[in-house]
Amino acid sequence: MNNTIATRLIFEQSQPGRRSVSWPAAPLADVSLQDMLPASSLAASPPPLPEVGEPDVVRHFVNLSTQNMSVDSHFYPLGSCTMKYNPKRHERWAKLPGIIDVHPSQRDEDLQGLLGILYELQEMLAEIAGLPCVSLQPAAGAQGELTALLVAKAYFRSRGEERTAVLFPANAHGTNPASAAAAGLTCRQLAGGPDGLLDLEELQRAVNAQTAVFMITNPSTLGLFEPRIAEAARIVHAAGGLVYIDGANMNAIMGITRPGDFGGDMMHYNVHKTFTGPHGAGGPGAGPIAVRDFLGPFLPGPVVVREEQNGEIVYRRHTPASSIGRVRTFFGNVGILLRGYFYLRTLGARGVRDAAEQAVLNANYLKSSLADVLPARYGRYCLHEFVASAQQILQQRGLSAMDIAKRLLDHGFHAPTVYFPLVVPEALMIEPTETESLATLDAFVDALRKIILEEDPAVVKSAPQTTPVCRPDEVRAARQPMMCWTCPPAESIVK
Ligand SMILES: *Cc1c(COP(=O)(O)O)cnc(C)c1O
Repeated sequence: MNNTIATRLIFEQSQPGRRSVSWPAAPLADVSLQDMLPASSLAASPPPLPEVGEPDVVRHFVNLSTQNMSVDSHFYPLGSCTMKYNPKRHERWAKLPGIIDVHPSQRDEDLQGLLGILYELQEMLAEIAGLPCVSLQPAAGAQGELTALLVAKAYFRSRGEERTAVLFPANAHGTNPASAAAAGLTCRQLAGGPDGLLDLEELQRAVNAQTAVFMITNPSTLGLFEPRIAEAARIVHAAGGLVYIDGANMNAIMGITRPGDFGGDMMHYNVHKTFTGPHGAGGPGAGPIAVRDFLGPFLPGPVVVREEQNGEIVYRRHTPASSIGRVRTFFGNVGILLRGYFYLRTLGARGVRDAAEQAVLNANYLKSSLADVLPARYGRYCLHEFVASAQQILQQRGLSAMDIAKRLLDHGFHAPTVYFPLVVPEALMIEPTETESLATLDAFVDALRKIILEEDPAVVKSAPQTTPVCRPDEVRAARQPMMCWTCPPAESIVK
């Protein structure tokens, strides 16, 4: 990363009269806008836009784009986010004329190609989930959770049942309880066992006639598959509740086992994670949900259905009978859905399974290569990711998970997820994904070893030294984001 360029705001580069294009004189050049538009439509003064030349604009934004890390520029082992490489051919295909030149307000007859793609995607997601009914609408995993909980509520209402409680394990992603609260349900957390897995007796004690949904991420955010998930599902079902599988970690199990087969009634996908939608910085995303057949009538519409008319296959939009209504415009974030579709079609059924196996192999390779310096808290083997603890390093060398993560940036690696899940002290959650080579994994291990064994821990504690921003006050940076690091009072946010 280069921190000597692009340090001025584009507004500071503005020079009166500078332009990117000079238009030829228009035939109506002598007619003023005042003559053509009513006074109420005219601004009192021109908008305060920067006046810059085309090279200034291009250089400004190209340089800005190099000030951050991305999957295209760096290894990005951000646990639970599945930052796999996004193939560039998906971008090319997503721009094919039959795709970008259509509008969702066109008639179904004129959208058969796109509707066909979306239908096939629904089918593939249903197959991978082991759950037959799919809605592509939710725009992210979190919205998928909320949507599925609203579907569950509608289902219970239709049966005249008043169920309001959502249960989830302590290592759940923060969006699980947040979605439950947003759906107007109450949350109850389960502590789990000392092995980082579910405690079935605790679950048995917690479920009752109030239990609406048991939400569980499987494999969990600790990178562990719940070996007793089917038993847990039986306990919840026996009490009349539904089981929700948070599918953010499908990269570990796609093509190998299916939420519908181990007891899930509903799940969401994170297409932007598992199926290569480019993501980061909060979007864009796609969080389709898949549910059992008895929940299908409550899904948000439209879904795409396939029919035979006079011997011809026709795709058509359909709103399920007891639909909870829309949760997003049209079909959701179609741009991201398409990238997921291309990924699945490129890999095929066998390739999907291979990708999961490779992701698990890569994670275990990192886990065992680092076992002596950065041990994982739970599990002999992991799935797609593992959560290491820097607690011992903190006690012995004074280096925290945050110090290690920041120093990785100087070594040219994006940091892992830190301080999550909360059940692991000084957590570093590492997820390499299947798209990384052995050479990259080895270089990452070397960098981590160098950092942890650094002769002078002060070097690590003052990292990063090569990035445009060093160590912002985390809380203030989140609450008062400053998009320009030269703005005063920059000193006050850099510790
Ligand atoms: C990422 C993630 C979510 C939320 O998904 P978004 O698409 O970011 O809304 C939920 N649960 C888990 C386990 C996740 O990793």
